[in-house]
Amino acid sequence: MSSVNLVVGGGIAGIVTAILAAQKFPQTPVYLIEKESSVGGLLRSTEKAPGLFFDYGSHCPVESTNQALNELLYADLNDDFYAFKTLAGGSYFAGQYFNQTQLLNATSTSYAAQALSELRVCTKTSQFNTGKSLSALIKNTYGETVAKAFIGPIMQKLMGATLEDLHPNAHLLFGLNRLVLGSADQMRELKQEENFDRVLGFASFREGISPYNKYYPKNHQGIDLWTQRLFNKAESVGVKVLTGVGLQSLDIDNGQITCGCLDQGQKINIKHLYWTIPPFLLLKLGQVNYQPAYRPSFRKTQLAHFVVDKPFCVDNYHIYCWEPSMSSFRITLYNNIPEHKPLGAPFKCTVELMMGSEKPELTQDEITQELITMGIIDTTHQVTQFYEDIIPVGFPAYTIKFVEELQNQHQAIVSALKNVSLFGKASAKNFFMHYVLNEIHQSLS
Ligand SMILES: Cc1cc2nc3c(=O)[nH]c(=O)nc-3n(C[C@H](O)[C@H](O)[C@H](O)COP(=O)(O)OP(=O)(O)OC[C@H]3O[C@@H](n4cnc5c(N)ncnc54)[C@H](O)[C@@H]3O)c2cc1C
Repeated sequence: MSSVNLVVGGGIAGIVTAILAAQKFPQTPVYLIEKESSVGGLLRSTEKAPGLFFDYGSHCPVESTNQALNELLYADLNDDFYAFKTLAGGSYFAGQYFNQTQLLNATSTSYAAQALSELRVCTKTSQFNTGKSLSALIKNTYGETVAKAFIGPIMQKLMGATLEDLHPNAHLLFGLNRLVLGSADQMRELKQEENFDRVLGFASFREGISPYNKYYPKNHQGIDLWTQRLFNKAESVGVKVLTGVGLQSLDIDNGQITCGCLDQGQKINIKHLYWTIPPFLLLKLGQVNYQPAYRPSFRKTQLAHFVVDKPFCVDNYHIYCWEPSMSSFRITLYNNIPEHKPLGAPFKCTVELMMGSEKPELTQDEITQELITMGIIDTTHQVTQFYEDIIPVGFPAYTIKFVEELQNQHQAIVSALKNVSLFGKASAKNFFMHYVLNEIHQSLS
């Protein structure tokens, strides 16, 4: 058998890597292996009853500044897909529902005025992005009040870690880099200055709209429809996909990966290995001389899928629950697809809840109560169907230790092995899909 380019992991990172590798090196066959029975990873949907789809993580892929990548991902989407610019976000914090922004809006709290005055001092004196921890970054950027009263408790809820332990980029995973700390007029005026613009947000999602499209399948089909099209594209450029398969061992010759043995004993000669899953397993299989200080962990995510008997009480699409005392993180109301809403029945939503050893799973009743508290449904709504999924490897637990360890593992692997590329969860650089795919595209185009 001739040597192949082997891609490990069939999430969106693996599928796009496989397509680009096949296009860039047409003489070399590309194999993609995925340990689950289907590809897609976090960008797939589960059909809980005939025709009833819920997404398993991400919902709406978004265009980026990379036109060639946009072309690959979205050019042939037809009438089966909605295209829209905003996500019509809402949020809940300190007992108040905001239907104009998914950003943390702290205006109604007793700390808002103090926070804004500290921010004014910080913007005059500090260097942005300074400090080794999120604690230092937030205190330097916004001041003590925002750190203590808002971002500290929220990050504890989401990551199960203190600001002192978290990496300075941890809040970016949740869009907490811009806050609303005053009225719409105040925000608009302050944002004219660059220093404020970087840390304050508009009070409404209707302002400062990004020029990039987001996409979602029509007719209550889940995001799987999009992922499947990319998967078909991969097969059409000759990628051979093996599902339900993992790697058991690798042969290494003088730093060169030469052969891989799959679960069922099948051997594959390897020209280049593209690794899109956490690097831990590769350290072992690649016989890399490195002792991990600890195993970087990812937060488990509980997904609670509801169908209710009538339209929701709010017309937002994504709702971020910033309230530290509640467990919900993001709620997606599928019927409120921006610019095309409202869709008719089924009235369905998915609630994402971050879990950790300190935080057990919530029951259906507890989550229903949180939806009522936020005002998303009321006590007259009937829950007609309820389903659950657990994502075991969800958001990275983005502590300083996590990032350092992942970087060290990355470095050890690329120093020891000559023909390997680490992307996505292995690269320690990016989390959001469009950044992950951009990184892959830049390396393979
Ligand atoms: C709850 C949640 C919400 C999110 N929301 C957003 C969002 O709104 N916007 C956004 O841009 N991003 C979002 N993300 C992040 C986004 O989902 C990821 O950027 C993207 O899906 C990463 O794709 P991936 O291929 O790197 O990883 P994954 O999707 O995790 O895919 C990895 C694949 O590798 C497979 N695999 C694992 N181990 C092995 C093995 N040993 N052998 C073979 N295969 C293996 C897995 O089964 C999986 O299919 C969200 C993530 C989560 C958890």
